[in-house]
Amino acid sequence: MKHSPSSDSTTPTATGFSPGFASLGLEASLLTTLEALGYEEPTPIQREAVPPLLAGRDLLGQAATGTGKTAAFALPMLQRIGHGPRTRPSALVLVPTRELAIQVGEAVQRYGKELRVSALSVYGGQAIGPQLSALKRGVDIVVATPGRALDHIRRGTLKLQHIQIVVLDEADEMLDMGFADDLDAILQQTPDTKQTALFSATMPQRIRSIAHRHLHDPVEITIAKEPVKAGTAPRVKQTAYVVVRPHRAAALARVIDVVGAKSALVFCRTRLEVDEVTAMLTARGHKAEAIHGGMSQGQRDRVMQSFKTGQTELLIATDVAARGLDIPHVSHVINYDLPSSAEVYVHRIGRTGRAGREGDAITILDPREQRLLRSIEQHTKARVVVQPIPTVKELRLKQIERVQAAIEDALKEDELEVFQTLVERMTVESPVTDVAAAAIKLLVRAQGGERPEKEIPAAPSRPPDVGRSIRDTGRSGGRPQAGVGAARSQPAGRMRRSGREAGMARVYIGAGREAGIRPGDLVGAIANEAKVRSSVIGAIEIEERFSIVDVPESMAHIIIDVLGRAWIKGRKVPVRLFRD
Ligand code: AMP
Repeated sequence: MKHSPSSDSTTPTATGFSPGFASLGLEASLLTTLEALGYEEPTPIQREAVPPLLAGRDLLGQAATGTGKTAAFALPMLQRIGHGPRTRPSALVLVPTRELAIQVGEAVQRYGKELRVSALSVYGGQAIGPQLSALKRGVDIVVATPGRALDHIRRGTLKLQHIQIVVLDEADEMLDMGFADDLDAILQQTPDTKQTALFSATMPQRIRSIAHRHLHDPVEITIAKEPVKAGTAPRVKQTAYVVVRPHRAAALARVIDVVGAKSALVFCRTRLEVDEVTAMLTARGHKAEAIHGGMSQGQRDRVMQSFKTGQTELLIATDVAARGLDIPHVSHVINYDLPSSAEVYVHRIGRTGRAGREGDAITILDPREQRLLRSIEQHTKARVVVQPIPTVKELRLKQIERVQAAIEDALKEDELEVFQTLVERMTVESPVTDVAAAAIKLLVRAQGGERPEKEIPAAPSRPPDVGRSIRDTGRSGGRPQAGVGAARSQPAGRMRRSGREAGMARVYIGAGREAGIRPGDLVGAIANEAKVRSSVIGAIEIEERFSIVDVPESMAHIIIDVLGRAWIKGRKVPVRLFRD
């Protein structure tokens, strides 16, 4: 096995201990946790953000979901809180959506297990009672959506006087959802001495101005700013499939079955995933083997040998393990996880399409990671085509096609006499078509063609962004309107009778200013309940007793249906299609 010189500093030792994380200044208990999670090396954002955050600096980071930014802020936060005075809560993480609040809360808990730091997620749309009692019992870190955080602050159930660290995660999304004023209001109530980190996938002026108001002399970090040099990105057919987490493994299996990969490298982020994916693919009858930094040199050599001779068809690897390997040309590179930076992506897909041969790079993608994919496209100047996940019918067709091709190949070979004798014997009793059909059936079965398969649901689609504007037709109660799409908003007070935009429907919601409704509440409710991206929501009009929101026509019915059943500002309200 060949090791590239650059791999030596990051290749884990035989025990799997990663010097990469230790060199960032993280303490032993966190390293143990990362080891148990199967993380082999820090991602670029982690490498850059952890040291200054550990040193107590404020930070302004440009990074999208999928870059590993949660650990980038959570690890130093846990280390600092874990050893400081436990005045609860000590840290506040603000995130745009309920889904993210849950996800970040779980991640913080996972990373903080050894340090016994507790975390709680609070978000709108959930009954407030259990949150009240959990806050009363005391937690170290609160992860919250801005609206619900303010609710708790006003009730006196979330106290900010001891907050040492504040993180604004996905700040651009929070502004898009109209939370600008809420963020200012919350931050103003936190101590001046706190440490603040702000992460955003984009860095428009309005994010810079929030940073200017609330961050002190921040360290600035931008990941993947440098475009990949022209000609460095391999010429490979690139495809992506978007699927929500619970269906990711099934999607991977489906894609592998459909493309019929015979020599593929499947990349995962962590050792645990490598092991899980290998077990899953093996159980489905694939010749799959794992390779990661937790394995001994001997084990790795054996696996590589087996892959090179074609005995193993699917090699499941982490980036670190694959980096030092002399891997032959592979037909497919499959990313079970989008890699954390454009550089890693290019490095991974460079394993296929070598020496003028055709290569295929396939990525399984979480809907939240589509932004990172777009940024990878920009940096690599190559298009990644998003395709629907193959249906069961498409899979069956492919399986039959492959069996047919295999039979046609066998027909070209000469050594069929011994089987012809058998066919002759068998066709005395049965017609030749029946015998052939039975043989094909067995072949299809052997290739998994009779295994029951389920359809894999498509992830929520993401239509092109629609500019949103707020037209608050009345007084705003002395409070400036929250800045949903502030950069592109229309002047407040302008009436919107000119009609809706093409392709948009207008949804009537039976609650308005009087009920305390703000644009962010509606955007939040629609994004969370109907699982659509906030950016598809169009103009929002808040009247005294009702509100009207423009949404894509294709989504109007589902939005009306789910909003009608949801709680908005603590109550159920009538929701229907609005006709002028
Ligand atoms: P995030 O960008 O924070 O949403 O993280 C994306 C995914 O990457 C999560 O599933 C994390 O568990 C995973 N992850 C974060 N850091 C690392 C790392 N250093 N090595 C492997 N996986 C990681």
